[in-house]
Amino acid sequence: MGRTKLSNSSINPLYYANGVAKFRGLTLPHGFSTMAMGNMASMWATTGEKREINDGPFYQTTGLDGKNRVHIVPSKKSGSIMPWESESDISPIIYLPSGDPSSVRGFACDAVFTTDRSLTLSVCPADSFPIIVTNINRGDAERERDFVALVIAGWRETKRRIVERTITRLLDRIPLIYGVPTKQSQEKFLKSFQVFIGPGVQYCCYRPRFLARVAGAKSDLLSENIKQIVGCGVSPDNIHTATICTCCVKDQNGNYRFFSHQRAKNTGEREGRFLAAVGLGLENPR
Ligand SMILES: [Zn+2]
Repeated sequence: MGRTKLSNSSINPLYYANGVAKFRGLTLPHGFSTMAMGNMASMWATTGEKREINDGPFYQTTGLDGKNRVHIVPSKKSGSIMPWESESDISPIIYLPSGDPSSVRGFACDAVFTTDRSLTLSVCPADSFPIIVTNINRGDAERERDFVALVIAGWRETKRRIVERTITRLLDRIPLIYGVPTKQSQEKFLKSFQVFIGPGVQYCCYRPRFLARVAGAKSDLLSENIKQIVGCGVSPDNIHTATICTCCVKDQNGNYRFFSHQRAKNTGEREGRFLAAVGLGLENPR
């Protein structure tokens, strides 16, 4: 009662299919793997296990191409070497032009966006929020400017304002790619942006120190990222939040939904990572 509504997700925005969580409102092929699917990051595989992960069922369920993907590996350092265009003043945001080679499995970056329908964008968050930005859910007027971006937003990336910088970059770049670079069309273009914030560690379990003194009721990663997205001019109605805390949310059987670094730190349980992925898809979903 009387609480500020941060998103239009009055019903549970996620549903689960074969161990994969998906947004009801997102027509693009995408998903977030639950703990039931197992650890999805080879670096957290125990010794004795092959450092391979069983992500086949995930890609089968989501319809994404697991072989043709660009995998975000968040970097602690600034100015990582990027093979393609990058924005490397703080941390690289990369733009992948259609048709570029995509065989490299991991990129030290915080966000990636593409207009290439064959690519899968992926990341294995520890507790950070995987954020999908796209215009795909809109009507045919925007059809010629389809894009999808995947952003990782932990405390470091939130402090670097990565989601804000990604949206700014998308506004700048996508119309250029599609050859409509006027200011007027940029504003119209922004109206088509839809943002989907996946599972991450929430206020209940984690409040980053750098936000502690910020005025306002909540100073957590989710609220701060929503603030950055709204600050860019994206309509709050177009921001969809999973509202699932990776650290504490359990399923109906009492099992944790997602791997969580924060929880592993608290409980000593084995670390693992879930997989968040999205792509434009070869078929136009509309
Ligand atoms: Zn929690």
